[in-house]
Parts: sequence; C-alpha cells; structure tokens
Amino acid sequence: MTLTNIAPTAELQALDAAHHMHPFTANDELAKKGARIIVRANGVRLTDSDGQELIDGMAGLWCVNIGYGRTELAEAAARQMRELPYYNTFFQTSHVPALTLAAKLAELAPGDLNHVFFAGSGSEANDTNIRMVRQYWALKGQPERKTIIARKNGYHGSSMGSASLGGMAAMHAQGGLPIPGIVHIDQPYWYGEGGDTTPADFGLARARQLEEKILELGAENVAAFIAEPVQGAGGVIIPPETYWPEIQRIVAKYGILLIADEVITGFGRTGHWFGSQGYGIQPHIMTIAKGLSSGYQPIGGSIVCDEIAHTIGQDEFNHGYTYSGHPVAAAVALENLRILDEEGIVDRVRTRTAPYLAQAWASLADHPLVGEAVSRGLMASLALTPDKAARARFATDPGTVGYICREYCFANNLVMRHVGDRMIIAPPLVITPADIDELITRARKALDQTLAHLQRDGLLRAAA
Ligand SMILES: *Cc1c(COP(=O)(O)O)cnc(C)c1O
Repeated sequence: MTLTNIAPTAELQALDAAHHMHPFTANDELAKKGARIIVRANGVRLTDSDGQELIDGMAGLWCVNIGYGRTELAEAAARQMRELPYYNTFFQTSHVPALTLAAKLAELAPGDLNHVFFAGSGSEANDTNIRMVRQYWALKGQPERKTIIARKNGYHGSSMGSASLGGMAAMHAQGGLPIPGIVHIDQPYWYGEGGDTTPADFGLARARQLEEKILELGAENVAAFIAEPVQGAGGVIIPPETYWPEIQRIVAKYGILLIADEVITGFGRTGHWFGSQGYGIQPHIMTIAKGLSSGYQPIGGSIVCDEIAHTIGQDEFNHGYTYSGHPVAAAVALENLRILDEEGIVDRVRTRTAPYLAQAWASLADHPLVGEAVSRGLMASLALTPDKAARARFATDPGTVGYICREYCFANNLVMRHVGDRMIIAPPLVITPADIDELITRARKALDQTLAHLQRDGLLRAAA
C-alpha cells in the first residue's frame, strides 16, 4: 500500500488539520487554509495531491542533496532491513554499516577529524557536542571550562541544548531557553547590520567580538565556539571573507575548541565536501546530518578530532541514543556518499552548477524589490527592501513581505522559503542549468507579483 491519493485533497487536509501538529507552524491558521499535500517526487520536482508539479528550491529542508527518486537508496535500506534491521552499539558490539560509515567519514573529513559519534539528527548531534566538549575539558583537568560561545541568529537545532546554542530569539522566547553556560555574540551579517562599514572591516569587527567575549568571560572558563560556516536557517548569510580567518586565529590563540556546524554546508552544498574546506577552517568537531543521507533516512553525528576522541576515550562517556549509528540509516548514508562521490556531484557543484546559479541568481538584483542577491555553492538568498540604496527595512513587521513573496512563489509552483524578509533557496545538488533558468523565471514572476501587491496595499514603505 502506498499512502498516496487515498482520498480527495480536502479530506487529507481535514485529517491533517484535525490530528497532525506541524513543526514551526501556527497550526490553527494552517488548518483554515489546509496544508499542501506532497505525494511523490523525482529529481528536483515534487508532485502534490492535485497533480501539480513544483520545483523544490529547498531540497526538502536543505537535505535532499542527490535529489529525489534514487532507488539505489531504497534498495540499500531494504537490503539492510533484511540483513540486520537494528542493533545497538552501546555494549561492546558494533555492526558493519556504522563502522563502515564512520571510516568513510573519517576519510572525507579534513585534517585529523577521524572519529564519529552518531546521532539521529543534527539537534541530537549538537547536544552530544555540548556534553562532549565539557567532558573533554573535565578530563583535561579544567572542569571550569564550560561556557560555549555561539551566535545570534545561528541555528543548531530544536532540542533544549541545540536550540540554546542557536541564537533564534523567537525560539528562546518559548520554553525557558537558553540553558545555562551558553552565550551569544553578533552575527557577521553585513547587509543587515553593517551600516557604513565595509564588508571586510565589518567581518573583522564581528569576529573580534569572539575575542572580546573570551576576555570578558576569562579564557579559562570557555570550552568552545560553535558556528555554521554559512548561516542557513538565519537567512543564508554569507560572512565577509575576513571573518573566518580571524575566528580561526582567535580560537587558536586562546585554545578554544571550534565546532563547525556543517549540517547544511556539508556533503557538497558549498561545492566542497564540507563548508569548512572552502573557508580554510580546521574545526575540532563538525556537526553533520541532513545531506549525510540526502534526507532519505534520519541520521546525524559529530566528526571529532584525534585529540578529543582520545581524551574522551579515557573514561566512560555517559551519553548515546538508541538509534546512534542505526544500521539502516547508515547503509543509506553510505549509498548516498557513494553516489555523491562516484557521480562527481560535489565537483560539478563547484565547477559548473554553482557558478551558473551565481550568475543567474545575481540577475535578480536588478529587480526593484531586491537589495542584494548572493550565493555560495548551491545556497542563495535575496534581501527584499523598499529602498535599495539605503538597504532599508520595511515598515511592516519583519517577515510580512517575505511571507507574501513566499506565497506567490508557492502559487507559481516554486518552493522558496522566507526568513524574515530574505528569500532563500538551497536546491538539490543535481539541479541542471535548465532547471535553474525555470526557477529564476518563477522567482522573478513572484517578485513582480509581490511588488504589485505591496503597491496596491501601500506596503512599499521603509521603516523609520
Ligand atoms: C537543520 C539544522 C540542525 C538541526 O538538525 P535536525 O536534524 O533538524 O535536528 C542543526 N544545525 C544546522 C546548521 C541545521 O541547519
């Protein structure tokens, strides 16, 4: 039985509204309009329950790197389920999928990142990281090194620990976050916060906030700094080129551990296996998930350097998840990595697809609503503005205009997400130049419709 077209769309929507609580959603509002029901997908295209075909500009949630419909992954899962559907790795046992995947990741990851602690998701992996870096320092005889420095508008997941690492104000406002021992510095978002400084100066200034924070706390109290190489959920915010080298200098100077959250930027998204490689960063831990399995199975993990792994190994680390290294998820991830590798997808992103997207995307900058159009690899964003020259914000609540634009994209069968008043994409890495042209055509149409809507409703006004 397949759960597709079992009933008319309205009936499916009614069941969804009655019983299904959607993440990051005002469910009462969604219930009134009804969710769009996605029934199948192939390549970069989704099909809904009315037979409409959409271009998935977001690769699901930044994860379907190899695109939809790769039956090799289904076969790998079925094979593994028949052979060994589950076994744990807690009590002195291991299994072939987990150990093979760990070895493969050690080979792909830069430097001495040679050890993998598996989790079921990116959130879980970042919770692991909090406990692991604190335990590392405890074993080093510096138990007071507990504080982790993170960034405002960073995203690291939705569990208590990972959402505390994240710097999303709307998340911290609910449920008693952040947990103690996590502090936040400002993000390297030049377009939105750089004022009259140059991007280069601004990148340095924002990196130096890390040094100021370390000195304020006392380096002897700081365990680690965590950041995404490129902020994803924060709005595809690409840091100035000066930012990462300065961060690298500061963490080295004070002996702070660097955690690169590669959940989005890993597995080819930026045209490298890991985003860190494109910025010349050498982290001590990398968080992975999403593109690790192209979303075909839930799996995440932490890739850990020799020094931390060997130190942690001196004692029992009282941490783990029932599904750490789940054999089916690991087998699917291995097949995904094989395809990314053997089909040259990562290289193609770097040498062909990303340059093509960069040029096509930049062409949107001539639209009256677009303040900047930027990309890195296959992640890209637009800043919507009522006044390009001033990089102004809208007078309406942040996100009002972005939401309007997103609705027009959706109506034009393009999945493009909004973060506040930034529009973002991160399509499957297998997207072709012809698909990119189609995506840009639909995006431009949605921008035109948004502009007309704002003019009609008198919303094309800058904040005072
Ligand atoms: C999505 C994401 C996470 C959380 O991963 P989940 O699998 O949703 O728990 C962590 N970090 C980054 C950078 C992400 O984009």
